[in-house]
Amino acid sequence: MRPGNPGKPIVPPVADEPVAGPHEDPKWRRKLRTSLLAWFDRNARQLPWRSDPTPYHVWVSEIMLQQTQVATVLEYYRRFIAAYPTVGDLAAAEEHDLMRLWEGLGYYRRARSMHAAAKLVVSQHDGQFPSTYEEVLALPGIGRYTAGAILSISGDQRLPVLEGNTVRVYSRWIGLRQDVQSTAGKAKLWEFAAMMLPRTGSGQFNQAAMELGALICKPKSPACDTCPVQKSCVAHSLGLQDEIPGKVSKVQYESRTEYGFVVPVIDSDRFLICRVPDGNRWAGLWDFPRCTDPNATTPTAAASALSHQLGIKIRPRRLITTIKHAVTRYRITLQVHLAEPVALSDITLPSDAFRFVTSEHITDVPLSVTGRQIAQWIAEEKPASHRKGEADLDPSDGSAVALSTRQKKT
Ligand code: SF4
Repeated sequence: MRPGNPGKPIVPPVADEPVAGPHEDPKWRRKLRTSLLAWFDRNARQLPWRSDPTPYHVWVSEIMLQQTQVATVLEYYRRFIAAYPTVGDLAAAEEHDLMRLWEGLGYYRRARSMHAAAKLVVSQHDGQFPSTYEEVLALPGIGRYTAGAILSISGDQRLPVLEGNTVRVYSRWIGLRQDVQSTAGKAKLWEFAAMMLPRTGSGQFNQAAMELGALICKPKSPACDTCPVQKSCVAHSLGLQDEIPGKVSKVQYESRTEYGFVVPVIDSDRFLICRVPDGNRWAGLWDFPRCTDPNATTPTAAASALSHQLGIKIRPRRLITTIKHAVTRYRITLQVHLAEPVALSDITLPSDAFRFVTSEHITDVPLSVTGRQIAQWIAEEKPASHRKGEADLDPSDGSAVALSTRQKKT
């Protein structure tokens, strides 16, 4: 590890105009830092990645913590480090096993990027996590924030960080009334974050600022009465803590209905699953056949689209469950239908991206979040005991589905 760089901090973007405010006064900065660090000493949460902050441990924790709460990450982190104690172990991992470990944590591209980055660390850096900002930033899945966090926390390099918590905390400290999502707003905050770093102990300062945002200076109703830096905080002195950060672009959510199918095999405990292709949400995981085409607005239309794609005749039999979930800006209602059983003798799977698995072996397969829920339904209901022609109406479609023995033969 390169020793900490106590010289000039790297300031990624530079603001168009000088940052004005109390932080231009070194005494203000010193006082705030001292108060913050004293509070952090007494109140820092005991987190597994903090007890041994190697670059690898910090990297894994930072990637897991993106878009995910600490409470959720704890168990995933422990299992991950137990399975892959070093970056070399991660590089050598089977993607199937890695995705199974990551299952349920969401944003699966993070795991795949880590895998790719670990391979690069082994091939280009002899298995040693790189120690310069530029080298770390060049690894897949690592941006300006993550590079700064890894190098400041693990090696005390003088690098700022800016993520959700620090955007809010810093903009309140200086009373920033700008849109923090704007280029100019972000540039000001990066500049401020760099100015605030002490000569040594940048990693501790960065963690303390993020911790303040997580525990005290929360988005709604910040606990100013118990805040260690209240006397230095501009937003509090102006009574603006509830208005700052200012304009934040709201995500516009879109509702969608999608259709999934449990396709059993006749006289068997097997079901069809598909590997989610690259570029899709949940890429690298497996799922039950699912139609995401917004033009397929009924289960019959969705089954028809999938049949065309898979070369397997899928006929919806009955609605078994509805799962609501969110992916990025979509609010998805997934209607899951049990399909008519298929005969293995009639089927040639189009590629190894399709498999028939038993309800027992599906436990070992890395599944999407909704796929796991469907697998649980299968384990409880054992739908394979049903045979062709047992149902004749799909209630969600409102139309009779061709299920009689005679119709099936044609
Ligand atoms: S005084 Fe209030 S607004 Fe200011 S940093 Fe503390 S909690 Fe946040």
